Amino acid sequence: MTVSPAAERVTESFIDGEPVRSAATYPNVDPSTGTTLGDVARAGDKEIDQAVAAARRASRAWRVTTPEQRSDLLARLAGLIDDEIETLARLESEDSGKPLSQARNDARVCARYFRFYSHVIESYYGLSIPLRPDLHVYTRREPLGVTGHIVAWNYPMQLFGRAVAPAIAAGNCAVLKPADETPRTAVYLARLAAAAGLPPGVVNVVTGLGPEAGAALAAHPDVDHLSFVGSTEVGSLIAGAAARRVAPVTLELGGKSAHLVFADADVERAATTAANVILQNAGQTCSAGSRLLVDERVHGQVLQRIAERFGAVTIGPGITDPDLGPLVSRKQQDRVRGYVESAKGADIVYGGTVAEPDGISGGAYFNPTLIDGVDPAARIAQEEIFGPVITVTTFGSEEEAVALANGTDYALIGAVWTTDLARAHRVAAQVDGGQIYVNTYGAGGGVELPFGGFRKSGYGREKGVEALDAYTATKTIVVQL
Ligand code: NAD
Repeated sequence: MTVSPAAERVTESFIDGEPVRSAATYPNVDPSTGTTLGDVARAGDKEIDQAVAAARRASRAWRVTTPEQRSDLLARLAGLIDDEIETLARLESEDSGKPLSQARNDARVCARYFRFYSHVIESYYGLSIPLRPDLHVYTRREPLGVTGHIVAWNYPMQLFGRAVAPAIAAGNCAVLKPADETPRTAVYLARLAAAAGLPPGVVNVVTGLGPEAGAALAAHPDVDHLSFVGSTEVGSLIAGAAARRVAPVTLELGGKSAHLVFADADVERAATTAANVILQNAGQTCSAGSRLLVDERVHGQVLQRIAERFGAVTIGPGITDPDLGPLVSRKQQDRVRGYVESAKGADIVYGGTVAEPDGISGGAYFNPTLIDGVDPAARIAQEEIFGPVITVTTFGSEEEAVALANGTDYALIGAVWTTDLARAHRVAAQVDGGQIYVNTYGAGGGVELPFGGFRKSGYGREKGVEALDAYTATKTIVVQL
């Protein structure tokens, strides 16, 4: 089923089951070439008001549908997404620059979110509490009403599924503001939701810029819950806006996740995995393992393996499906270059420069980069680079490795590479983060796994059954018998 021509010149919001234009537009730039892909409706307060009002109207009927009815509609939407993988992947690859096969995988994961929550919602129950023989006490998990979602540009389809699927499965109606750079798949998915039979107003997408449409959604007095995926800086603005009207928030922010490679590890596997993970989505992954902490005894081996892998990488436009596409924008390219240039005193073992594959001068490419001898206090070891860059610091003991891993403001995920079972569990318990991997790396893992951070990586958990708790509130009912 094709619900919209992929080549539309203006991407409009989708509110209450209808496309909605805005008075102004902004250009959608293809980071693979620097050319424009068309224009995007630059929505503001008016369209956000319209979307929130539509969601509020729809929620009166939606919140009293049965779990079975919602489950059927979510499963139908998952099926439509699966049918449209090629169209969705192309739109995503053009908007973000990500390699086509990675965009296909993102579409599959998006479908998986809707299918997973279609299953889970049918077995999401309250409790019966045996307080006293003459009292019948039970709890209900009730939807909150209207949920607002503001997401980043790095995994637009996955973030759409991760936010919207549990929210609407739980009986809420959603308003999502996609990232400025990557609006098209969100609008396409909202149209697919309508085609699947979801009533108008249950899923609304409002396109626009962060400080305009995003800020309007964050501050809207009739939004009952906000979920935000993006930078720590903007996350704190969102939390502030929500606090002023006492609305709950889930914040999924940045990361500086570390691989801890011990001397007894399968070093070959650790190094290959670390290289592949940072190449994924050009390192623009909140949970990218961007810091390599390595036992000084195996340091040389690890570096050699990663440099070899980087040397074999193909670079090019996302749509040609290389190993490494461009960064999302020239702005992001400048940011990555600035961080690499700040690494004075460290040793750039591989890369460190922008790339112009096939002479494409307008793209936002950056070579895979390996930087050794990084001072743990340096900016590149402390701040999120969000590019295909690995920094390397050595350690001499387990205690030192754990202290280095926990030595940034972030705490999102991490990985322990060792064949010593006791050390694996000991270190996994000591490293701060919402997910810790042992001898593998998931960059967020499957849809079933609760995901979120500690400290400046945010709070609250998305994914898994736990996400439904964020989108509902418990009501306890006490009946005198
Ligand atoms: P960003 O914070 O600039 O933007 C994220 C979203 O917020 C976009 O939709 C943007 O339009 C909107 N926004 C920007 N300013 C706003 C404002 N004043 N009010 C309301 N909304 C506003 O982040 P980014 O640069 O697009 O994304 C990269 C960041 O996202 C990285 O730090 C990365 O780690 C993080 N991220 C985290 C996760 C996670 O799950 N923890 C996942 C993906 C990305």
